[in-house]
Amino acid sequence: MDETRYYQPSGAVPILGLVLGSAVAIFLATICGFVFGVVEFYNPIIYVNFLGAFFVPAMVGNAVRSTLIKLKVRNWTFSMLLGLLTATAILYSAWWAYVVAVVKWELLSPDPTFLWGIIGLISDNGVWSIKRYTPTGVVLWILWAIEAGAIYFFTMMSVLDTPPPFCEDCDQVTTQKIAPHPFSMKDSLQMRDELEDGRADLLLASVRDYPGANCFLRLTVNACPTCDESYFAVIETVTITVDNEGKSSSSNTTTIPWIKVDAKIVAELEALIALGYFTEKVADVSDDDDDSEDVAADDE
Ligand SMILES: [Zn+2]
Repeated sequence: MDETRYYQPSGAVPILGLVLGSAVAIFLATICGFVFGVVEFYNPIIYVNFLGAFFVPAMVGNAVRSTLIKLKVRNWTFSMLLGLLTATAILYSAWWAYVVAVVKWELLSPDPTFLWGIIGLISDNGVWSIKRYTPTGVVLWILWAIEAGAIYFFTMMSVLDTPPPFCEDCDQVTTQKIAPHPFSMKDSLQMRDELEDGRADLLLASVRDYPGANCFLRLTVNACPTCDESYFAVIETVTITVDNEGKSSSSNTTTIPWIKVDAKIVAELEALIALGYFTEKVADVSDDDDDSEDVAADDE
């Protein structure tokens, strides 16, 4: 078993990435946090506000992630710290905007101790009601804590979402060579062992097998845009679940993380995929609730 083929970020933080990355993160977080705070105050539909606590941090987090990729940052710790800073800036700016809206647009000082005092007053008196109930004190604080938790969680999830591999020799971010390609469930342990050995027999033999309806593998290959030596593949397991109302949702887990593959294998994979699926499409089995059985059935 050889683990050296797995992609490892070098840890580099170019100076432009440090400065511009942080600036972009703080700028976006402050603007979007402000808008979120204002919307939260004026919009009476609580549901929309809860949705915002997911949507705003996910959107800002994604933008920060793409900025860091473009600026060639490949340091997990730096991304993590910037993610924390981004979430804090969203939360702080949202609170400031909210408090400013509460006092009818008197532009208050964003001084934390001053803000804290006003937030205390809001908590004592309550600001909004749902069915004639005006939450105050502990109830409000719990809701605020949940919201703050959501902001941190979704910001971090987005910022730290695995970036594409980087070609250190050429100082370039790799780009998609083979777009996410689903194929049938196979023995992923054997596939992994082979890839670690620099081979891909099972993968090559399977890529043209039609994916199962409920569970399948998905291959993506990235390549360096400059040289002909940096190819990386990632294999995910995608599981489709259908609930009682017939709504389907998918979840993916990384089965084999970004791993170096040889140019020859990538060329073979590309050629095979271009030929289309080898096996016929199987009928949907969407009324089957038990997922684990399907996985077992597909896993041959
Ligand atoms: Zn390269």
